[in-house]
Amino acid sequence: MVNFSHGWWVIFQYVHIIKKGHIMNPCNLNQLGVSSKTPWAVGHFNIHNMEFIRPVVRAAEQEKSPAILAVGMLSVKYMGLEPLITACQIIAKETNVPIAIHLDHARDLNTVRQALDLGINSVMFDGSSLGYEENVEKTTQVVQMAHASGATAEGEIGIVPHGDITVSKDDMTDPAKAVEFAARTGVDFLAVSLGSVHGMKTAGTSLNQELLQELYKQIPAPLVLHGASGVVDAHIKDAVANGIRKINVNTGLKVVLKDFLSSRFKNNPESDLLDDLDLGMNRVTESIARRMRLFGSSNKA
Ligand SMILES: [Zn+2]
Repeated sequence: MVNFSHGWWVIFQYVHIIKKGHIMNPCNLNQLGVSSKTPWAVGHFNIHNMEFIRPVVRAAEQEKSPAILAVGMLSVKYMGLEPLITACQIIAKETNVPIAIHLDHARDLNTVRQALDLGINSVMFDGSSLGYEENVEKTTQVVQMAHASGATAEGEIGIVPHGDITVSKDDMTDPAKAVEFAARTGVDFLAVSLGSVHGMKTAGTSLNQELLQELYKQIPAPLVLHGASGVVDAHIKDAVANGIRKINVNTGLKVVLKDFLSSRFKNNPESDLLDDLDLGMNRVTESIARRMRLFGSSNKA
């Protein structure tokens, strides 16, 4: 479906690129250099405060990799939408590697509107719990709202569940529905369900690679993997080879910081908290850099 704002949206993006002769940060997902054709995926890292924002940008600079700073709903509840987006915007402007700011799992149009008004570059609408037609309808509205602001939009088809459960066949993405959903909504990126689960503290799940290959063949929009913290490295690598182009990491980074701080507090009870957090940020940076190498995004900035 071609919507009325598409032409303006393309012009927006070019103006954005032409200024200063290179990409100006922050940018949207289509300005990160990744597409369905690139043999690598960009990392989406959920941030909750400065202790996560800085490590994402530091790792991006070290690895010369584009990156996505993702603002999720629990973090909005914790820190507030405007403080988080503003902090991301300020830090993103300090670097020349492409950094996008993205709203993760918005479930209502008001939050999407607020985030776009604050200048966010990309929004994900999660209508996976809605009926199919309502998901199509609301996601289409989000795509139009995003494009009118020069932002990109991600939708979700199939269900990536939360908690210690396995994904049922019914929750996995149905290829025919996904093809229709992508065409009708016009999403720039499409999240699909292949077997991963949100919120896993250790990596143990595998992915349905045959389903992914089938989706990749038929859907032009870059495909997104949610719940990557719970997926073993070998399966992440195969998923990139089979067409995943954006990989969402949240829980795994929280675990790295919490594990480090737990042992640090135990072993150095007299240390200054800022030194503890500084060392903690180094651990988070290392973990992000390792994932960028795994996703193949190093040296792609
Ligand atoms: Zn997710």
